[in-house]
Amino acid sequence: MCNLSKRYGRIRAVDDVSFTVRPGQVTGFLGPNGAGKSTTMRMMLGLDRPSAGRVLIDGVRYPEQGTPLRRVGALLEARSAHPGRSAYHHLLWLAQSNGIGRSRVAEVLTLVGLASVARRRVGGFSLGMVQRLGIAAALLGDPPVLLFDEPVNGLDPEGIRWIRELMRGLAAQGRTVFVSSHLMSEMALTADHLVVIGRGRLLADTGMREFVEAN
Ligand code: ADP
Ligand code: ADP
Repeated sequence: MCNLSKRYGRIRAVDDVSFTVRPGQVTGFLGPNGAGKSTTMRMMLGLDRPSAGRVLIDGVRYPEQGTPLRRVGALLEARSAHPGRSAYHHLLWLAQSNGIGRSRVAEVLTLVGLASVARRRVGGFSLGMVQRLGIAAALLGDPPVLLFDEPVNGLDPEGIRWIRELMRGLAAQGRTVFVSSHLMSEMALTADHLVVIGRGRLLADTGMREFVEAN
């Protein structure tokens, strides 16, 4: 991320923010509500166009629109599946529009623990199940880079633990994991590295241990 900025009219949602997210680690993105986390992640995904600055992935400037699921997978707060569709059909549709084979759909459904409810309508899913479905979508293309926006919000302790272990496991496989939260306590349990944002400005970019020792 280089000198990334986003304005909405007079609001500076993200103001000249630069940081690097490394593979093989969980990088936490900490900041209070309204700090600019979602806006930053949407720009990293190419869903929002930066007012200034750029996003580089593996040294390559990221496309401004759309994201091949094979390169970056994401769980975003606002992204939801069609309530009338089954979990299976939602993922199949995503897979087909991204050139991913249908065998991978069954694989990710098992991975997130939704295999037994795959034929049920998404509209009847609990929040935890919706969250798992979002994670299945993020993992569909087996991407090296994963973005999770507030993944534990509203989940029960078991769901929170499951997501934490999933993120640790993905990083242990050498993937790049970038996860936002407004809770320092959550970040302390999950992240190796911490990027802190407040009112659109970068406040810290540091190893977790250094951050804890300094604060
Ligand atoms: P966070 O994810 O850290 O809670 P956001 O990135 O959602 O923060 O929001 C950062 C700031 O940008 C807030 O002041 C928010 O109100 C504003 N904002 C976000 N999206 C929009 C939008 N589409 N239009 C106008 N303002 C926006
Ligand atoms: P919308 O509901 O706004 O139309 P879609 O769910 O259709 O959004 O997705 C828009 C684009 O985002 C598609 O090209 C799709 O490949 C991509 N996309 C969808 N889900 C994910 C995800 N979890 N991670 C990364 N990209 C995704």
